[in-house]
Amino acid sequence: MSHKSCSQHVAVLVFPFASHPSPLLLFVRMISAVAPDVKFSFFSLAKSNSSLFTKCNIKGFDNIKPYDVWDGLPESYVFSGNPLEPIDFFLKAAPGSFKKGIAEAEAEIGHKVGCLISDAFLWFACDMAEEMQIPWVPLWTSGQRPLFIHVANDVIKEKLGASGDKDQTLEFLPGFSAFLASDLPGGISTENLGSPIAVMMHKMGLKLPRATAVAINSFQDLDLEVAFELKKKFHKFLHVGPLTLTPPLLPKISEDNGCLEWLGNHKPASVAYISFGTVAALPPHELAALAEALEEGGFPFIWSFRGNEKDFPEGFLERTKQNGNGKVVPWASQTQILNNACVGVFVTHCGWNSILESITGGVPMICRPFKADQPLNMRTLEAVWKIGVGVEGGVVTKSGAMKALQLCLSSKEGKEMRERISVFKEFAEEAVKSYGRTTEDLNTLVNEIICRPSKPKWL
Ligand code: UDP
Repeated sequence: MSHKSCSQHVAVLVFPFASHPSPLLLFVRMISAVAPDVKFSFFSLAKSNSSLFTKCNIKGFDNIKPYDVWDGLPESYVFSGNPLEPIDFFLKAAPGSFKKGIAEAEAEIGHKVGCLISDAFLWFACDMAEEMQIPWVPLWTSGQRPLFIHVANDVIKEKLGASGDKDQTLEFLPGFSAFLASDLPGGISTENLGSPIAVMMHKMGLKLPRATAVAINSFQDLDLEVAFELKKKFHKFLHVGPLTLTPPLLPKISEDNGCLEWLGNHKPASVAYISFGTVAALPPHELAALAEALEEGGFPFIWSFRGNEKDFPEGFLERTKQNGNGKVVPWASQTQILNNACVGVFVTHCGWNSILESITGGVPMICRPFKADQPLNMRTLEAVWKIGVGVEGGVVTKSGAMKALQLCLSSKEGKEMRERISVFKEFAEEAVKSYGRTTEDLNTLVNEIICRPSKPKWL
């Protein structure tokens, strides 16, 4: 990897919800390791900054400084229970809050911001960068396919029309013949067109082609066909992932609720790991169905559970503790668990970070997607890469879960999925080596954009 001496000041604008801040900080850590003289001002909400900077062990990265920005909530605000409301308030205030924060950081550091990195969701960063006449590098924190869908938003709407036919295929898009209109995120299909998230995603799709470069937390060989199409849409398209594998690696978490020790007593590829990410949760009847399937099938499991324990079948938690067949924990060291050879399947909501972590762990997936990019990710896992299976009928039932667990843990199909995923795992490991594509794209980002000798011609 090339090392650069360059005294640039980079502002990093975070979308501070769900798991978005974490890949952005990993991205910045990765750049800062290659260009240690660059100063990064990292703008996010106070709560997110404080937990993230502890978790991502930022010690030794003196050139990355967190700045807290306003959450946009009115003083009298009381949470209504609608998780989209704080996002809406934040987005309304964000352009002004970020500008204020940048002015403060510039005064403190004594150096004008010369490059804007943002979460791709923050489409208005395009206008800010153009006003400041500096490069804009948005990071897309999901996979190639959802990104392509958002950039092709208007084409899709035109082709699908107002029919609302969920079974219509997307064969008019290159590489999407196995996909259905029902796989699309709300706001692109006929649902929720006017919601704040749909409006944000639509604007993002229009602005991204104006970015100096679009970076993605993925590796090129995972989805070559779509990566090729995306390269035609952007000035530069840079694969910078998987960010959990790029140096400097995060230190191993020592406090893991005893999961790794417990795993050590099991046969290879025999344990199910269950997690639905930081936002999604199974409705009570599905939660009960999954618990019954695990118990009746005798499948050993680790379940990262954030919810109401009363929703489990009566006595499930007590029996699990007594017979030692499973562990239910409030938070798991997911990447370490997925890298343990005893884990044979991941029951997931198909969030992008979880998918990448499962691929780099070599673990096939049982998919129970909820919303946003998750249904599209599930279809990709099942129909394109063939490294995952959806739960029968889209919801967890006891018999459907048992079938999927048996298929992944003890059938020929499960073994084949593991073989296919191990090829992707190897591609991911190659991508982050010194000669790999991710390293090459990182060097392009640092040498041609962040520490550019002169303005690139496409600016
Ligand atoms: N995660 C974790 N431990 C848990 C549950 C989740 O470390 O017990 C992490 C997981 O490793 C992943 C992130 O939380 O990096 C979830 O991100 P994802 O994109 O999969 O889903 P989201 O939370 O955005 O829906």
